[in-house]
Amino acid sequence: MKIKAAVLFAPQTPFKMETLDLQGPQKGEVLVKMEAAGVCHSDWHLVTGDSKHPMPLVAGHEGAGIVAALGEGVTGLKVGDKVSLNWANYCGECYYCKRGRPGLCETFFKTNKAGFMPDGTSRLSLNGEPVRQYCALACFADHAVVPRSSCVKMPDAVPSSVAAAIGCAVTTGVGSVLNTAQVEPDASIAVFGAGGVGLCTVMGAKLAGARSIIAIDPLESRLEAAKSFGATHGLQPSDSVIDQIFEITEGRGADYVFEAAGSSAVQELAIKAARRGGTVVFSGLSPVDSTFPLSGALLVRQEKAVMGSYYGTAIPHEDFPKFGDLYLKGQLPIDRLITRSYPLEQINEAYADMLSGAITRGILRFD
Ligand SMILES: [Zn+2]
Ligand SMILES: [Zn+2]
Repeated sequence: MKIKAAVLFAPQTPFKMETLDLQGPQKGEVLVKMEAAGVCHSDWHLVTGDSKHPMPLVAGHEGAGIVAALGEGVTGLKVGDKVSLNWANYCGECYYCKRGRPGLCETFFKTNKAGFMPDGTSRLSLNGEPVRQYCALACFADHAVVPRSSCVKMPDAVPSSVAAAIGCAVTTGVGSVLNTAQVEPDASIAVFGAGGVGLCTVMGAKLAGARSIIAIDPLESRLEAAKSFGATHGLQPSDSVIDQIFEITEGRGADYVFEAAGSSAVQELAIKAARRGGTVVFSGLSPVDSTFPLSGALLVRQEKAVMGSYYGTAIPHEDFPKFGDLYLKGQLPIDRLITRSYPLEQINEAYADMLSGAITRGILRFD
C-alpha cells in the first residue's frame, strides 16, 4: 500500500514528507493504522546526528494506533484493537527475555538498532529502494508494519495520544522510578531535566509517595510544569544548585537522583546531588560516544550507586496496560503532558516547538 511518511535522508536535514510503499504484514507482524505519534527527543538525536543511524529512515518510536491487519501466526490481537507500540521488540526466549528483561533482548538487538524487522529487512521502500524503520516501528507515517512483540493491547478508554506517550516517555520516566530504582515512600528525589521523560519521572516519584521532589531545568516553563505534576521544588542550574539541593534535603543530598537530560555535564552533577548511600539513575539518552569523569574513590567511600535505566526497566506487555489503568484512575495525569497536537506534515514545526520549550509534549496526528 501507499503511505504518507516523514523521511530522514541525512543527518542535519529536516524531515521530508514522502509517499512510500509499505508491504503488508508478514509472519508474526501486524499492520497498524497510526493514530498518534509522540514528538520525542530521541528522534531529534537522529536529526542532529548525536544518534548514528543508517538512512533513509522513517523515525518515530512513540506511537499508538489501531490494528488494521494481522500477519500469519499472530495471536492475542484482533483487527480493531487499540495498541501502544513498544520500541524494543523482543524474542521472548533469550537469556534476557527469560529473566524478565525484554528491553535488553539479545536476539533482536542488532536488527532493531539497524532499523529492520527481526528478519533483517524493512517493509518500507521508496522507488524500490529500502527505507529503514526506526526501532522496527516508523511511527512518523500514517500506517506501520511492526513485529507482534511491539504491539501492546491497551484499554479502548485510553486516548491514543496517552497510549503513544506510554510507549516511550511515560514508561522511561515512571518505569525508572518504580522498576529501576524502586523508590520507597517518603524518599527525597532530585530530577535533572524536565522534558518529557523528566516530567514522567516526577509523576512516578509522586505516585511512589516521595516526600520531596526537586526538579532542575533551565526553562522556567518546564519547572512550572514539573510543579503541576508534583515537584515540591524547581531549581534552575547555577553554581549553587548542589548546595540548594543539600539545603532542601537536610544537608545530606537526595536519596534518589534521576538524570533525564542525557548530558555528560549533568550526569556528573547528578552524582554530586545524591546523599551518601544514595542512588543515581541515568535515564536520558546521551550521545553514544559521550563520557564524563567519575570518581571511583567517591563511589566507594560514599557508597553511591549509579544505575542505567533503559526503557524504564519495563516489561511492556505488563507495564503499558498498568500505566494505562493508572491514567484512567487519575493517578498518572499523562494527558496533561500533551500540550499540543500537529498534523504529520507539521513535524518540523513540532520539533522546533519542542526545542524552544514552547510545548511539554507534542503529538503528531494522522486524521
Ligand atoms: Zn530476547
Ligand atoms: Zn522516546
